[in-house]
Amino acid sequence: MKVLKFGGTSVGSPENMRAVMKIIADGEEKIVVLSAMSGTTNALVEISGLLWKKNRETASISIGQLEASYKKVVKKLFESEENRKKGQKIIKSAFNIIKSFTSGKFSQVGENTILAQGELISTQLFTLLMNENGYDCKLLPALEFMRIDEDKMADSNYIREHAEKVLQEVGPTTYYITQGYICRNASGEIDNLQRGGSDYTASLLGAAIDAEEIQIWTDIDGFHNNDPRYVENTKKIEQLSFNEAAELAYFGAKILHPQTVFPARVQNIPVRLKNTMNPADGGTLITAESSGTGIKAVAAKDGITAIKIRSDRMLMAYGFLKSVFRIFEKYRTPIDMISTSEVAVSLTIDKKDNLQKIKNDLDKFGTVEVDDNMTIICIVGDIIAEERGFASKVFNALDGIPIRMISYGGSRHNISVLVPNSHKKSTLQALSENLLSNGN
Ligand code: ASP
Ligand code: MG
Repeated sequence: MKVLKFGGTSVGSPENMRAVMKIIADGEEKIVVLSAMSGTTNALVEISGLLWKKNRETASISIGQLEASYKKVVKKLFESEENRKKGQKIIKSAFNIIKSFTSGKFSQVGENTILAQGELISTQLFTLLMNENGYDCKLLPALEFMRIDEDKMADSNYIREHAEKVLQEVGPTTYYITQGYICRNASGEIDNLQRGGSDYTASLLGAAIDAEEIQIWTDIDGFHNNDPRYVENTKKIEQLSFNEAAELAYFGAKILHPQTVFPARVQNIPVRLKNTMNPADGGTLITAESSGTGIKAVAAKDGITAIKIRSDRMLMAYGFLKSVFRIFEKYRTPIDMISTSEVAVSLTIDKKDNLQKIKNDLDKFGTVEVDDNMTIICIVGDIIAEERGFASKVFNALDGIPIRMISYGGSRHNISVLVPNSHKKSTLQALSENLLSNGN
């Protein structure tokens, strides 16, 4: 069985939902994971933000606006009066839940329950649409099998056991529809897999049921070899290995949730990125094998902060890096790139909530410098680190660009350079001209 995930834009309007119905309704049994309709999760995040600030009136206005937009969707989506009524009932009960949090003390569970309504609504409406059009289709409640543990990591064993159980309980059908993104946590409360997490739902579920393929349907053809917003004539990448895709997903302009690749890699299940607007295109296929050596793609990630710690105590000492890392661990802040000399270490983070506290703690070790507004540019391919002359090709391409850090050799799938955000475009273009042309 295949698992297909459709993103917010793919189910973002009644027309788009019908297009998804056409794509999936080929008679083959499958599980379909849906996001919330586009814009919904953002709106729900905003509503929760207002409720945290006790700004209940504004929250109620936003809730009313969102509800009104859904009422319109229902009118357009269904043919029969009976199904329109059923659709309005789905909307009403979801919005009653949201409204129930506009009084009393707001809590994390309240927020998570509000955030879950987007996917709960889209999947119920879509299932009803499929049924109205005569398709054999059932809803699989994700909250009964998707789970994260105390560390907010996916609980694969639980998911495997419970996905099978829920499939049996729901009983045979051709098309199973389930919610992306939402799950329960170790205490059994409603939680989620973080923004963009529907992709991750699809791969966790695909791995749990040993799917034959996991397809992630979005509104672009797949991974491109460079960022089309900054560079002309980018090309779609036909095939990538799991490792290359994992590197790119972190950078990949939100095409794929970065954790998506891992469950698929463990079970060796191919992942295919497909375009809802262009279903005939094969998209990008991600498998254990890569196709050929050389450079596959260049990608960028903004919003990076570089931190440099200079300390004479570092010279010939052991345990220094450990003390530095411990501070980042204390503030639960992942480090992305790192480079060291004998008396200084530079590293990058993209989670800045505790930056000031981290800096205060680091000040005890020596001189600390913080550079904001940096961009990591990542060059991805297979065995690029072993291809002779590769490094000089990269450095020649980057002639004239102020590079703040370089990471080379950490993995055989990537080289990363850190540049000021103001040089992002010129860096992407220079790499495209020098590394990606000539059929690379
Ligand atoms: N609806 C969620 C979001 O917008 C999850 C997803 O679309 O993947 O982040
Ligand atoms: Mg997404």
